Amino acid sequence: MSDNREKTISDFREEIKHAYEPGAKIMSADRELRFCFELQRDRFAKRNLVCNEEMIDRGRFPQGFNRVRSWQDGRYETTWAVNFIDHKKTYTRDGNVQYKKKQKQSMYETVVDVRSGEDVSNDAYCCPNCGAVSTVSELQEGCAHCGTSFKMSELYPKVSNYFFVYDEAGSGKELFQKTVRYGLYMLPLTLGFFLWTSYSNQGIEPIQFIKEPGLLIKMIIGLIGTLPVVGFFGWFLSIWGKFIKTILTDLPLIFSVMSSRKSFARNMSRICPEYTFERFSARMMSLLKIVAYSERDEELPFYKGEQNDLFDDVVDITFRGTSTCRRVREKDNMVYVTADLYVETAHDLGTKIKVKKEKYRVTAGRRIDVPFSTNFSITAIQCRSCGGSFNVYKTKKCPYCGSEYRPEYDDWALYDIKKR
Ligand SMILES: [Zn+2]
Ligand SMILES: [Zn+2]
Repeated sequence: MSDNREKTISDFREEIKHAYEPGAKIMSADRELRFCFELQRDRFAKRNLVCNEEMIDRGRFPQGFNRVRSWQDGRYETTWAVNFIDHKKTYTRDGNVQYKKKQKQSMYETVVDVRSGEDVSNDAYCCPNCGAVSTVSELQEGCAHCGTSFKMSELYPKVSNYFFVYDEAGSGKELFQKTVRYGLYMLPLTLGFFLWTSYSNQGIEPIQFIKEPGLLIKMIIGLIGTLPVVGFFGWFLSIWGKFIKTILTDLPLIFSVMSSRKSFARNMSRICPEYTFERFSARMMSLLKIVAYSERDEELPFYKGEQNDLFDDVVDITFRGTSTCRRVREKDNMVYVTADLYVETAHDLGTKIKVKKEKYRVTAGRRIDVPFSTNFSITAIQCRSCGGSFNVYKTKKCPYCGSEYRPEYDDWALYDIKKR
């Protein structure tokens, strides 16, 4: 199982670099996240946008770390993997740049795996429609020979969410450049200090440095010599300053995230212990993105809310790594969870793209009386009216005859989305 997890993580890091290329399939992602990328590509195309993304491994640990945090529930183990990248993102329309960003970041991946169970991905399966034999994993996006879609259990391990965090640290060369830059910032201060000590210790008046070239050269050499040292302290102080500022502004949020995990776990352990808050918020993020990028919300099988116009100009939503649980409530065989998702959204204003930090409050519900099955299942999907086969995770209407056909949908459904 563990080898598969490592492979999924490295596959995702490779696949996400090509996520916006035509026809790309991110098979290391779970089906919801896979669908997010497809819909987002459609939205780019509709708005005539081209998104170019470049992620280059960097830093002392270019291979990253595959288990920085881990959570376990009844059936699953969810882990965070991290790697360090130079992230470049450019949006262009008709050759004109609409947005450009370059940043050193760490990319976090939320990886879900089953704790025990057999791996069926390489088992042979005979398509009931055309008779062709494929492996189970090849059928995830339908039969390659006849197009029949299947309803099947997710083939873990999969990446279910990902996010980027600005990352200050870097290689030794970057560190040196940074200290020199901070040294230059602090030059006026250093100069002032130098003149003051010369005067108070050795009685040299500042004017003498201009009068005597020998003294001036000494002073310049002294300043250059101390530049990286002063710069290092300046850099160090600035990191502390940022750190303290973050703590002061984010402290309520940090507490709320910690108490969220606890209250979610406490409430859910009786109702639906197969979900940790980590796994739940990853799913919420994907569902939010699907609603955001989708043109016809009412055809989404998991969406019970109204047609949404909150996201009409949104071309990208990226999780910022933070979500909090507001409320867990039980009613008529259902559990409803309200959560806040902290995201960064890119709004296409037509002539440029504006990136904003936003917060969305989502309410999701799930049936309590449907037990989790630990057995793998796969069934071909066939429309009852016309016999056509289509992906029921993506739409509840048959694309051939338009009739509504939905096999029992028993996972999380979204009931409400609000911008906060
Ligand atoms: Zn087939
Ligand atoms: Zn049909």
